[in-house]
Amino acid sequence: MDLLPLWYQYSIIFVFGLLIGSFLNVVLYRYHTGRSLSGSSHCLSCGTSLRWFELVPLFSYVALRGRCRTCGCTVPVRYFLLELATALLFWVVYMQFGMSLLGLLTVALGIALLMITVYDLYHMVIPNELVIAVSVCAVLYVALTQYEYFSWMDLLGNVLAAVGAFSVFGGLWLVSKGRWIGFGDAKLVLPLGFILGPVGAFSFVILSFWVGAAISIVLLCAPRVYHTVTLVWSATTNLLRTCPQQSIVKYNRYLTMKSEVPFAPFMVIAFALVYLWDIQVLELMMAIL
Ligand SMILES: [Zn+2]
Repeated sequence: MDLLPLWYQYSIIFVFGLLIGSFLNVVLYRYHTGRSLSGSSHCLSCGTSLRWFELVPLFSYVALRGRCRTCGCTVPVRYFLLELATALLFWVVYMQFGMSLLGLLTVALGIALLMITVYDLYHMVIPNELVIAVSVCAVLYVALTQYEYFSWMDLLGNVLAAVGAFSVFGGLWLVSKGRWIGFGDAKLVLPLGFILGPVGAFSFVILSFWVGAAISIVLLCAPRVYHTVTLVWSATTNLLRTCPQQSIVKYNRYLTMKSEVPFAPFMVIAFALVYLWDIQVLELMMAIL
């Protein structure tokens, strides 16, 4: 692979990521509905089996403008976004780690975190199976990065980082009786803190709140903008005519101060910032001040 031109390598990795992302969509849907993984893909609305050209990642969604070819109902945008996100994950990891054991482990970790993000966004729950998958990746990661120059002190640092990060989120869960964040979020912090170690875990916790605050403010302040954009979008794509029950803009979907907010996506973004790009909060603050 190293002998191929760089743009070619990245293209292969990107396309491979798209295929995996497409598969993850199927896995997530069938996991939630309890259906088996075998059998052909079909429209969730009319049940028509999808032809091969309706299953090309990204392109089918764009070409069919996010609608079923037979019944015209909208296909959830998460199908498109998860494919894109998985491809970007493969791409970034390949850039950072190349074809290595660490790269492979990072991809596995990233896939689990992407699935957690989607699941939490849609169902406000983090499946235990996925937290276990992240935990297995965490143990393998620490084993892989520390076995050469192993010291008990380093390992203790990672354990304390996990416990420290967990106590912050576990504490919030306890104090708020689960209203601010779920216990699933707190559980997820254990393996993530374990991977990052004390310095990284500190930045990760702070960044989670920063990312959460930034995104929440945007969502709180922008419902009117969102409302207008959705209306314009619906009108231009003619969704109102073909699929009335789905495109009626629901005001109650907007975020209010009382809304329950899925927190895992913020954590995943914060984790990626620290893990992939080594963003440190203290350095960031010193740069700003
Ligand atoms: Zn259909």
